[in-house]
Amino acid sequence: MFDQDHPGHNRWHPDIPAAATVKPGEDFRMDCREWTDGQILNTDDANDVRDVDLSINHVLSGPVAIEGAEPGDILVVDVLDLGPHLPGTAPDGLAGAGWGYTGIFAKENGGGFLTDYFPGAHKAIWDFHGIYATSRHIPGVRFAGIGHPGLFGCAPSHELLAEWNRREQALIDTDPERIPPLALPPNPDNALLGTMSGAEYEKAASEATRTVPPRDHGGNMDIKNLSRGCRAYLPVYVDGAKLSVGDLHFSQGDGEISFCGAIEMGGWIEFGVDLIKGGMAKYGMKTPFFKPGPIEPRYSEFLCFTGISVEDGVNYYMDATVAYRQAALNAITYLSKLGYTEEQAYLLLSAAPIEARYSGMVDIPNACASIYIPTAIFDFDISPSSEELVSRDLGSQATTT
Ligand code: ZN
Repeated sequence: MFDQDHPGHNRWHPDIPAAATVKPGEDFRMDCREWTDGQILNTDDANDVRDVDLSINHVLSGPVAIEGAEPGDILVVDVLDLGPHLPGTAPDGLAGAGWGYTGIFAKENGGGFLTDYFPGAHKAIWDFHGIYATSRHIPGVRFAGIGHPGLFGCAPSHELLAEWNRREQALIDTDPERIPPLALPPNPDNALLGTMSGAEYEKAASEATRTVPPRDHGGNMDIKNLSRGCRAYLPVYVDGAKLSVGDLHFSQGDGEISFCGAIEMGGWIEFGVDLIKGGMAKYGMKTPFFKPGPIEPRYSEFLCFTGISVEDGVNYYMDATVAYRQAALNAITYLSKLGYTEEQAYLLLSAAPIEARYSGMVDIPNACASIYIPTAIFDFDISPSSEELVSRDLGSQATTT
């Protein structure tokens, strides 16, 4: 991404110049690099996940200016289609050229949702077969991905950028010794800001925010249902809106729990854009909303695991995050009884199209969360066998004595 004639960017800043301009009503295609800019390889070890340079990410394509967009408008973004680069259309060494990956981040890299239980780096490579994915590292599963952009949004205004930095620094300051920190402050190392250079670049690089968290504008929301055919409504904060996109996912489970935890890929995406003038005030918009598309893969049968907000003998009052973590751990333990390693199960929960729900959120003191695993993604039956039921008495045939 750094070497392109029109480089993208890996930080948010209002002054990054638009790389292209489109009109409301126009459709257009953007190509995206995989989010680490090609650091993860199609290999059988996870050294690259362990050693990944996280000052590089996320490499984003754009920004694209939309003619006539002004602060306070809603940018209507249709996700018309997307897909991976095919072998031969991108260098074979790059994720997206017929393959993608899911990684468990090592603890020293900040880890994922279950880092305390899985501190080491792991990786699964997925091969793409049209809409389906299989993995030599997780045998016995094959599923259609719900492809989506993990990350897209419009540029913040200077005021909003300052607010992001203020509130995230305040969070960091509550526990400044913590490693990794509670949030990532601006980091000029490897900051890529489109074509910005010189003193203007230096100033912007020192204040541009990282792309990791979802924020008011959307950004890294990692919502798997922002898929083909969805219509997203995004807040506009600067003239031209300046839409950027990246972190394409072939598939992802709700929560993306292993952190680089979707099936990460480079690829292409087609957008259509339009504007609702003054829409933010009209609809009271603070953060994006969207209409899911019509052609997601539909699964009808699930095995569902539950979790409550109790961890290591401690009762956490109505803590939905703890409840979700416990649901994930309970699902991993179950899958490990079927022959998978716990790391394979963790990668699978993160990458496959699992559904996660907040369930009971009112019954003090325990929140309840649930994880729905589509049973059809396995080529064997993962449910407890009905033959194990005590009541399953088939009777005994009358026989001669
Ligand atoms: Zn991603």
